[in-house]
Amino acid sequence: MYTVPQIEAARLPGLLRAMPKAELHMHIEGSLEPELIFALAQRNGVALSYADVESLRAAYAFTNLQSFLDIYYAGASVLLTEQDFYDMAMAYLERAVADNVVHTEIFFDPQTHTARGVAMAPVIQGLHKACVDAEKRWGISSQLILNFLRHLSEEEALQTLDEALPYRAYFSGVGLDSSEVGNPPEKFARVFARCKDLGLRRVAHAGEEGPPAYIWGALDLLHAERVDHGVQAVHDAALMQRLKDERIPLTVCPLSNQKLQVFPDLADHNMPQLLAAGLVATVNSDDPAYFGGYINENFVQLFAATGMGSDEAYQLAANSFEASFVPQSRKQAWLGQLQMAFAEAARQS
Ligand SMILES: [Zn+2]
Repeated sequence: MYTVPQIEAARLPGLLRAMPKAELHMHIEGSLEPELIFALAQRNGVALSYADVESLRAAYAFTNLQSFLDIYYAGASVLLTEQDFYDMAMAYLERAVADNVVHTEIFFDPQTHTARGVAMAPVIQGLHKACVDAEKRWGISSQLILNFLRHLSEEEALQTLDEALPYRAYFSGVGLDSSEVGNPPEKFARVFARCKDLGLRRVAHAGEEGPPAYIWGALDLLHAERVDHGVQAVHDAALMQRLKDERIPLTVCPLSNQKLQVFPDLADHNMPQLLAAGLVATVNSDDPAYFGGYINENFVQLFAATGMGSDEAYQLAANSFEASFVPQSRKQAWLGQLQMAFAEAARQS
C-alpha cells in the first residue's frame, strides 16, 4: 500500500503542475486561441465578425452552455484544411506537454466541420498526423475520440459514423457533446449500439447541466464507459453507489463548471465530495481557450478554492491514468512516475 507523502500547502501548486497526468476531456476545437483563430482566418481568407484578437476575447463573457456554444462554432469556422487541423492540434499538444500531460484523449466534433462543407478526411488526418508528430517530438501519447453533436439528429450521427469509418484506425472511441438539456442519451441509443459492435470505446457528456437521469441513460442506454462531467450525480445516492462500485470514471472540468455557472464559486465545487465518496473523478480543461485555462490552471485554482491537499492531488492523477483507454502496463508505469514526482516534492519540502 502506497502512502502519499504530505506536501506543505505552499509547495502544492508546484507539485500539481509538475506531477504527470492524463487529460481525458478536452475538445480540440475548444483549444483554438483567438490568436490562432485570426491567423487561420487570414491564411484562409475567412471574414470574422470581430475586429481583432481583443474584441474576440472580450466576447468570451458567456454565462451558460448555449451562449458559449454560439461563439465556439463561430471560432471553428476558420478551420478548412488538413494543415489547419494539424496546427490546432499541435498547439494544444505542445501546451499539454508544458503542463506535464503524459497522455491525452482528444475529443473532436466532425459535424461542426462537415456541416460547413469540410470533408472528413482533412479533419481526421490533420488531427492524427499531429498526434503522431507530437509523440515523436515530445513523447506525449494520444488518442482521438469522435464526438457526435447531440443537438443534431441520430440519423446525422449515423451518417457521420459512416463517413468516419474509413479512418477507423485513427480514432479509438466515440462521445456525445454539445447542448445537453433537452437532448437526452436515449436519442442516440442506436448509434452507440453500432459503435459498441464496432469495438469503439464509448464516453458521453451527462450530468453537467442535465439531471442524474441523463447519467443513468448514458450508462444503460449508451453503454458509456466514462461519464464526461457527471457532477450532478451527487443528487442521486443510488447512482453514486453504482459509479463507485463499477469504477466508472467522471471527467470533471472545474473552470468550465465555474464559467458556465454550474458552480459559480469554485469553492463550492463538489470535487472533494466526489473523491470522498470513492469515485474515479478526474480534472480536465474541457475547452481551455474559452474557459480560462489549461489543465494545470484547473488543478491549481480548484485546489486553492477548495483547500484539497496532497492525498487528493495524488488520487486525481492516479484516477486519470486508471480512467484512460490504454493497457494496464502503461498505467502502472505512469503510477511509478507519479510516485517519483511526489518523492521529489517531499525531498524539497
Ligand atoms: Zn466537454
